[in-house]
Amino acid sequence: MRALFYERFGETPKVSTLPDPTPSPSGVVVAVKATGLCRSDWHGWMGHDADIRLPHVPGHELAGTIAAIGRDVRRFKIGDRVTVPFVSGCGHCHECRSGNQQVCEEQFQPGFTHWGSFAEYVAIDYADQNLVYLPDSMTYETAASLGCRFATSFRAVVDQGRLKGGEWLAVHGCGGVGLSAIMIGHALGANVVAIDIAEDKLAIARQLGATVAINSREVPDLVEAVREATGGGVHVSVDALGHPQTCFHSISNLRRRGRHVQVGLMLGEHATPAIPMARVIGHELEIYGSHGMQAWRYDAMLEMILSGKLAPEKLIGRRISLDEAALALTEMDSFKDSGISIIDRFV
Ligand SMILES: [Zn+2]
Ligand SMILES: [Zn+2]
Repeated sequence: MRALFYERFGETPKVSTLPDPTPSPSGVVVAVKATGLCRSDWHGWMGHDADIRLPHVPGHELAGTIAAIGRDVRRFKIGDRVTVPFVSGCGHCHECRSGNQQVCEEQFQPGFTHWGSFAEYVAIDYADQNLVYLPDSMTYETAASLGCRFATSFRAVVDQGRLKGGEWLAVHGCGGVGLSAIMIGHALGANVVAIDIAEDKLAIARQLGATVAINSREVPDLVEAVREATGGGVHVSVDALGHPQTCFHSISNLRRRGRHVQVGLMLGEHATPAIPMARVIGHELEIYGSHGMQAWRYDAMLEMILSGKLAPEKLIGRRISLDEAALALTEMDSFKDSGISIIDRFV
């Protein structure tokens, strides 16, 4: 198969021919039709993810058809159109048994713990527990754009943040994760405050339903600006970027008993950010992480997409080839792209 891989962290990736994968007894091989390019791929390539063993094929936001199947797989067959959560559960640990495959103790993560989807084929373990059927009307590109960002945002806003209609939601950072959260918050009937430093991203945020858009470079005190716009602070706040400052702002702009959800990754030098803990105690704030979304929760998200309330395809930016992905991956830290880049050509 053709695949993009790297032999050293931080070195420009190459595209070349590698052996085709074979399925494990409980796994499948998916012929990749579309795969998203994500900042976690960049973190992995930089060497920030301890799960990655070299040489490595990145890629975890994938959709395709089943090309080969292990002998123990029961629920799926060759030719099925599928996607998979980037955190896949083993199916037998305590967390998996309680329905929390997103924090499985022995998780399978394509593109991190195993080779990923920047390739013509990718092997997925624990298929019965983790594969998600794609609705017939959903394109592979849209399914790939659910990837980790949209699905993680859905879990962050709906399941972890427990956002309700009429509440205020703040979203710090309007990249793929942030714009997803804004769209989801708006669909739930919440009032959304979008925060970024780029006017073009704030303009997209407004189109997706943000009622207030704040350029954090243009206000003297961001937390005060959010409090003023929302009558005392937001009920739910998401750090969609993953930076010590956005994390601090996101917790600080909550109203009493508000819920902060950390979605943006905090890796490398950012792994231990400052937290306004006095406020967390005094105002009884809740702090959550959101780490992917388990396969069985995809149904709720897919229903909202099929009904037209959510339109993840609006977040797709560039469509690129596997060969173009090598450069795109190395440039991800510059935040230039609006929207999600999708690799849709592999040969
Ligand atoms: Zn498990
Ligand atoms: Zn991702």
